[in-house]
Amino acid sequence: MTLAARLPTSERMGTGHLHINLGAIVENWRALDRLSAGETAAVVKADGYGMGSARVARALAAAGVRRFFVAVAEEGASLRATLGPDVEINVFSGHMAGDTRRLSDLGLIPMLNSPEQIARHTAELPDHPFGLQLDTGMNRLGLETYDWSTDLAAGATLILSHLACADDPDHPANAAQLAAFLDMTAGIPIPRSLAATGGTLLGPDYHFDLTRPGVGLYGGAPFADAQPVATLDLPIIQTRRLRAGESVGYGCTFTAEKDTVIATVSGGYADGLIRAMSGRGTLYAGDTPCPIAGRVSMDLISVDVTDLDAIPDHLTILGPHQTVDQLADACGTIGYEILTGLGARYARTYS
Ligand SMILES: *Cc1c(COP(=O)(O)O)cnc(C)c1O
Repeated sequence: MTLAARLPTSERMGTGHLHINLGAIVENWRALDRLSAGETAAVVKADGYGMGSARVARALAAAGVRRFFVAVAEEGASLRATLGPDVEINVFSGHMAGDTRRLSDLGLIPMLNSPEQIARHTAELPDHPFGLQLDTGMNRLGLETYDWSTDLAAGATLILSHLACADDPDHPANAAQLAAFLDMTAGIPIPRSLAATGGTLLGPDYHFDLTRPGVGLYGGAPFADAQPVATLDLPIIQTRRLRAGESVGYGCTFTAEKDTVIATVSGGYADGLIRAMSGRGTLYAGDTPCPIAGRVSMDLISVDVTDLDAIPDHLTILGPHQTVDQLADACGTIGYEILTGLGARYARTYS
């Protein structure tokens, strides 16, 4: 039995508060644009890496971005509604069977990935712009060498390929993919693009005419100089004192070794604070780290706040002491997954 404690409880709202710094996103784009040899586009797929694609894209368009990339045509449709007719919207997944009307009506440019997509596009939208994606070794999307001949490029707006290991500058796949890209596109007078965030940081050999950063805009690795974008505070709903031997949460995986104070905060795996953070993640009360105690549940996380002199009204999980990548490292994933998983339940504010 837990001894009920009379510690202060919060009067704050019950949801976490996610703050997104649009100014930092714009600064990150400008910094990557200064590094880029040619034009710099912006990748705003997956709802702007979880940051809200409409808000993000409007801020970037106002800062001068003219080319955007999304994963699928549906994302392109909502981006077009947000940004109007004056920007170029490119779709990585190309021309899928159900996309024709949307591509055509909304002026979205598919990056064609296969002979089937080229045939579909030529048959259904012969006068509509298209780009081409080549596979240079990642074996995910794009035309293979055996499907490729340079005459396919006639009329394309862009030829792109994607690097598998650009976050590791020493990986031999980078130079191999660069050589393959140069080889497949030699002598073709059409703009080329190879680099996402990681490739942009590999240097000008990888830049060609257009870089297409995503994660670096949102403050994520491998762009080490990025300004952080997301701050996430979780309100404390309740606190309690435990005696040595009492345990916390599903499965009783945390047991107090001494008198312990536990704060229960609002936020859980349904909000993208993944279950792998159980027993491994850390929240912060100002400068003081407070470890997660036991399992993360769907809507709640228990945190050991024994070391605090006073109980605050919230704890911070993304902020000055912990970036998305540090949080990701602590639980065995990558910043991309943390960002894109941040859920719909938070109260979101923008600056
Ligand atoms: C997601 C994606 C990008 C952006 O990658 P980041 O690593 O987030 O910069 C660029 N190009 C393609 C083909 C992508 O799928």
